[in-house]
Amino acid sequence: MFIDTHSHIYAEEFEADRDQVVERALSADVKYIILPDIDRTTRSSMLTLAEQYPRIMLPLLGVHPTSVNASYKEEYAAFEKLLGKYTIYGIGECGIDLYWDKTYYKEQIEVFERQLNIAREMNLPVIIHSRESLSEIFTVLKRQHYNMKGILHCFPGNTEDAKRAVDLGFLLGIGGVVTYKNSLMAEVVKEIGTDHLVLETDAPYLTPVPYRGKRNESSYIPYIAAKIAEILGVDVKKIETTTSNNATNLFNLHSERCE
Ligand SMILES: [Zn+2]
Repeated sequence: MFIDTHSHIYAEEFEADRDQVVERALSADVKYIILPDIDRTTRSSMLTLAEQYPRIMLPLLGVHPTSVNASYKEEYAAFEKLLGKYTIYGIGECGIDLYWDKTYYKEQIEVFERQLNIAREMNLPVIIHSRESLSEIFTVLKRQHYNMKGILHCFPGNTEDAKRAVDLGFLLGIGGVVTYKNSLMAEVVKEIGTDHLVLETDAPYLTPVPYRGKRNESSYIPYIAAKIAEILGVDVKKIETTTSNNATNLFNLHSERCE
């Protein structure tokens, strides 16, 4: 069994054939798909999909850093209002993104910290998005990292950064980028080993080789696992088992798996 710890399958890119995409994921032995939240524009399609596929599609709630803009207060309030009303498996994705826009840097940090506090209060994992902001993320985490657990999704750092993340108790989300030529991720994977890794697609983005350039989907998770197995010189079964165990523990899916 595989777990895709990060997919936006509720996005409009899947409007035409979403059910087939789910079928293909299940056929590829991807049994759970974690749905990270973005903002008000996509939230209802995410929650609808989670209802349609209970115990397969596992939603989170959060505010994405690129959705922190002039109306960030309303955005945050809309998110907060839903807490306790739905079964969720974590908080996110949240974080800091300085690649697209730095205008709301201060607000991004505020919204990120508030979500970290909620994750801690609710004892839920936090899924962190970081783009050109890893040192800022570490600064925030160090300020209040106690009792935190989660994933640095689409891990954007080098081996030093990876060690810091693991020291803070975080797992690294490894996706299609690891299959790209000259990717830093091969070094990171070698250094960290399997104990702190989880698999993710970030569908519809960051499609692994051999489908790079096309729309990404959860059924491609085994290609990512195979690449990690190749880098580490181990059997792909070991990657499957370890990463699924890591994700099962993090998202507390033990009872889901018994049913
Ligand atoms: Zn995402």
